[in-house]
Amino acid sequence: MQLFSWGKKSDQTVQIKEIITNISSSTIDILHKGEKVTIEIPFIDEASVQNAIHCLCVLFILKKNNEEILHRFQSLYSIAMRLEMKEGINHCSIINDSYSNDLYSLGIALDFLNQQKQHKRRTLILSDILQSGMEPKKLYSQVSALLLQKNVDRLFGIGPDIFSQQKQFSSIKNNSFFKTTEEFLRNVFLSDLSDETILIKGARSFEFERISHLLEQKVHQTVLSINLNSIVYNLKKYKEQLEPQTKIMAMVKAFSYGSGSYEIASVLEFNKVDYLAVAYPDEGVELRKAGITLPIMVMNIDNSTFDSILNYNLEPEIFSFALLNDFTSFLKKSEIDDYPVHIKIDTGMHRLGFMENEIDLLCKKISGNQFIKVKSIFSHLAASEDPKQDDFTSYQFSLFKSCCSKIEKSLGYSFLKHIANTSGISRHPRLQMDMVRLGIGLYGIDGNVHMQKLLKNVSTLTTTISQIKKISAGETVGYGRMGKVEKDSTVAVVRIGYADGYSRTLGNGKGKMLLKNKLVPVIGNVCMDMTMLDVSAIKNLKEGDEVIVFGEALTLQMLSSWAQTIPYEIMTGISARVKRIYYEE
Ligand SMILES: *Cc1c(COP(=O)(O)O)cnc(C)c1O
Repeated sequence: MQLFSWGKKSDQTVQIKEIITNISSSTIDILHKGEKVTIEIPFIDEASVQNAIHCLCVLFILKKNNEEILHRFQSLYSIAMRLEMKEGINHCSIINDSYSNDLYSLGIALDFLNQQKQHKRRTLILSDILQSGMEPKKLYSQVSALLLQKNVDRLFGIGPDIFSQQKQFSSIKNNSFFKTTEEFLRNVFLSDLSDETILIKGARSFEFERISHLLEQKVHQTVLSINLNSIVYNLKKYKEQLEPQTKIMAMVKAFSYGSGSYEIASVLEFNKVDYLAVAYPDEGVELRKAGITLPIMVMNIDNSTFDSILNYNLEPEIFSFALLNDFTSFLKKSEIDDYPVHIKIDTGMHRLGFMENEIDLLCKKISGNQFIKVKSIFSHLAASEDPKQDDFTSYQFSLFKSCCSKIEKSLGYSFLKHIANTSGISRHPRLQMDMVRLGIGLYGIDGNVHMQKLLKNVSTLTTTISQIKKISAGETVGYGRMGKVEKDSTVAVVRIGYADGYSRTLGNGKGKMLLKNKLVPVIGNVCMDMTMLDVSAIKNLKEGDEVIVFGEALTLQMLSSWAQTIPYEIMTGISARVKRIYYEE
């Protein structure tokens, strides 16, 4: 047997000397039979790098010539292998997974469909499953069982095989079958599809992009793409920082820090966080309407929203005596006992909450109050990210503990206690208590450098070039003629402006965007709907080319430092007209 191995050690057939990660490519230096070889691949993720090295080994075994090998690696490109969710026509949500179709990937896509609760009906458009190596009869009986198990309500089957096996799908009441994609397009009225979640799942040769094209709402060319796998990954990384029994409350306020509402909440629910928290009642109502069943804490309520709090089973934060009195009277009038509430203590943030000197009166008011049930007591750290403030953080923690024990004694029952936010978790593991409130970390940002390295990027904001033009030395660009060029230059106009959340402070060279892997500066003032870039340094541009505003390589931290703000503000400031696309890889 011929053994062929690769690895970092010198006794491997192919020895990896170094892997250098560039902005969007990797350079791999290797030693094979005493010869140095360098390959460059247009990927940076670990899996792709490993795959490439495996392929390289095979090429060595097949004795392919080195030049040919290098050339071929360079011409690799990444293919869209992801499952995307977009807004569709007629209030539908469209899940597009028309890149492949086999039993295994169908199972994954159906799980994703099944998690979606924003519409009552779940619809599947499915092509023949090719090359399964199974008899059609056996194959489609398995498919049929799978659809039943994953709660598919309506099926469109497309292809000769599924057409011939349609009897097997009688358990799904609403079904119809077509021999070709063409036939489906001719016979199904798009207006028949409304207010449902539609999974489009087909083998390449069925060209289901023709269907998804019709069903997806046309997007304005500036898009925020949200990688749902990365959210799950980041959640797991924080779980690993915690004791196994510590609960997690996921903060999904402000449209999940700008990234979405039920789309994010349903992923978190599926991945078993313990609680969700929103800022205002409306945000909680939206989650309930989309079928989210996790307990939801609402941090900022007032008398006018008591009704929806009760109707939608939301759990309010009580932060003042006025609110406690009013909410108690409301519960009394509604004849409700033991309504779950969360009490906020102000230990130094001086935002909402009961102060230390109010705790005795608070104890008096809530012990024996049959109308409420205290689910948790919490406080918020003012500077958990800052080492210089660690003494203050410890002070807040000990004050919180003493308030809790007072209240616990007087109340006679116990409740969850929590104080740590994202940097609380990553910088102060001893403050995790019964639960932590994980916010920005879920979305891939942590001020702690060590933790930041463990996280994956979640959001990528991209836009496109609408026009490219040449201007001469001495001419100016934009309002106020602020962008003056010293030499002949090329300017690209991109489809994003301050109305989309691209701050005006990024004008005149402060901000940069990533174009063909190079940073290019903003020239002149940022306009409401557009921004101009000086692209003189880049060749072969064309209108329609994609530009990255932030993402993996050009990070939110870089952008927020240019704009002299914090990632939180940039994330939550991406305006509603920027379409969100959710995907799983
Ligand atoms: C927003 C918020 C959090 C989460 O903070 P991050 O820094 O994003 O983790 C936690 N607790 C309260 C009360 C909040 O308002």
